[in-house]
Amino acid sequence: MDNNKPIYVTQPALPDLQEFIPYLEKIWDNKILTNNGPFHMQLEKALAEFLEVPFVSLFANGTLALIVALRALNITGEVITTPYSFVATSHSLLWNNIKPVFVDIEPNSCNIDSEKIEKAITKRTTAILPVHVYGNPCQTERIQEIANTYKLKVIYDAAHAFGVKQNGKNICTHGDLSALSFHATKVFNTMEGGAIVSHSASTKKKIDYLKNHGFFNETKVKTLGLNSKMNEMQSALGLLQLKNFHQNIQKRKRITQLYQKELEKIKGISFIVNTASTEPNFTYFPIFVNKNEYGMTRDDLFKKLKKNNIFARRYFYPLISNFPMYKSIESARSSNLPEADKIAENVICLPIFSELDLNSVYRIIDIIKNKDA
Ligand SMILES: *Cc1c(COP(=O)(O)O)cnc(C)c1O
Repeated sequence: MDNNKPIYVTQPALPDLQEFIPYLEKIWDNKILTNNGPFHMQLEKALAEFLEVPFVSLFANGTLALIVALRALNITGEVITTPYSFVATSHSLLWNNIKPVFVDIEPNSCNIDSEKIEKAITKRTTAILPVHVYGNPCQTERIQEIANTYKLKVIYDAAHAFGVKQNGKNICTHGDLSALSFHATKVFNTMEGGAIVSHSASTKKKIDYLKNHGFFNETKVKTLGLNSKMNEMQSALGLLQLKNFHQNIQKRKRITQLYQKELEKIKGISFIVNTASTEPNFTYFPIFVNKNEYGMTRDDLFKKLKKNNIFARRYFYPLISNFPMYKSIESARSSNLPEADKIAENVICLPIFSELDLNSVYRIIDIIKNKDA
């Protein structure tokens, strides 16, 4: 065994290539490559069943799903969101000329702190865009309560949360819409891809013509749509990936349990513990470094891992609010986001993917344990 082979934060799961060939042959036979073809229809149906939701609309990627989700609900003005996410969350607002209003996070889950949302609501607020970060469920009930009181829409960025359940129900059953990403780095991938979960036939219809240039029927263009359709190859791959999903999650679970068991013993290293009501997807394994207790800064540990060919990532650092296009927004100032600031300074996401063998996990743990190495 190569004891120094590079290990990256993730490695995409793929089905057996032989299993994919018959799907490709079908596409080559029927010459339907895109525009709601047979695999596209099958995958929408399969995902709706899997996610226990009435309607799924497939997209070319998760970012376009977010952009269209905001359009579909006519969101304007200001939207309350979290700075602790991948930048596409806030970018989807700017692409719709909406002003992001950043609210601090709750350190135990790293999700938007629902108790701080109300203070950020103004006359211009039209929606809340929370993220189930690392696949950890937001406080969905509290958020819905606030949305009902102030008549706001709720769109979840569920890019990390594919397959996650809360109190026995799929996480995508919450909110007005949920946007998913099937990017190569996500737990369920179609190379690139995404989806919007909706809860009414009329909303799905609107989403579906927005993603296809605004075509309502053959001759009528009803709205300023764009092209964000998923193609038949991606859809076919999705059907196969779905079959292997459960097995992949079980492998990730074993890795998570090993990390937890061993890292628990190390002073100054902490991690998120899921609540009993959550059925997680084990998509990331973030740790938080307390430099006083651990005796080394986050960045020094990050560099040490790198020196040992372990390519962890600092998700999510820097905060979205520190990027140049957001910096000047009033709510982006650090004094408004102290918890997010602190977490972003201390976080490292350790490698986790279904093909990561347990010996490699021990190798990573040993580097973290042995501070002088
Ligand atoms: C990956 C991701 C997206 C964007 O998805 P793409 O499919 O890469 O466009 C959006 N939000 C979050 C939180 C993500 O992690």
